[in-house]
Amino acid sequence: MSEKILVSACLLGYPVRYDGKSTPLKNLAWLQQLQQQNRIVIICPEQEGGLPTPRDPAERQQDKVITITGQDVTQEFDIGAQKALDLCQQHDIKIALLKANSPSCGNQKIYNGQFNNTLIVGQGMTAELLSKHSIKVYSELEIEQLMQAIKINRT
Ligand code: SF4
Repeated sequence: MSEKILVSACLLGYPVRYDGKSTPLKNLAWLQQLQQQNRIVIICPEQEGGLPTPRDPAERQQDKVITITGQDVTQEFDIGAQKALDLCQQHDIKIALLKANSPSCGNQKIYNGQFNNTLIVGQGMTAELLSKHSIKVYSELEIEQLMQAIKINRT
């Protein structure tokens, strides 16, 4: 059977972002094709961690995650990350497509923890945990690389 990939729910159009919106990919056809083949596993780690939608924006501050109002939501982010890893292990998933720059899902850059709209090199809590377990994380900025990794053509 073809391998499955884990996908951020907001990239598929689910309104799960902190602001109650989604950030769907422009071209969803190839993902929908994979979905029809039962090859997509969807998660929003922040919701899975027990946070409501909408919710206060949060940013990583080293190993913690703090909201704009100063609430420590590290535990919720950790729970969401663990649930994402559990899903990957359950479905033997080795590749994930996660939303760029998110404090959960960002795979290369995240906001700097000061809420001043500044990106720094770093990973979100879920992306970091998956990477530590040898799951390759791509973002929506790396679709071509992802395509090559899962060996399908974009339609
Ligand atoms: S936690 Fe991930 S899936 Fe959920 S809204 Fe944020 S970026 Fe999207």
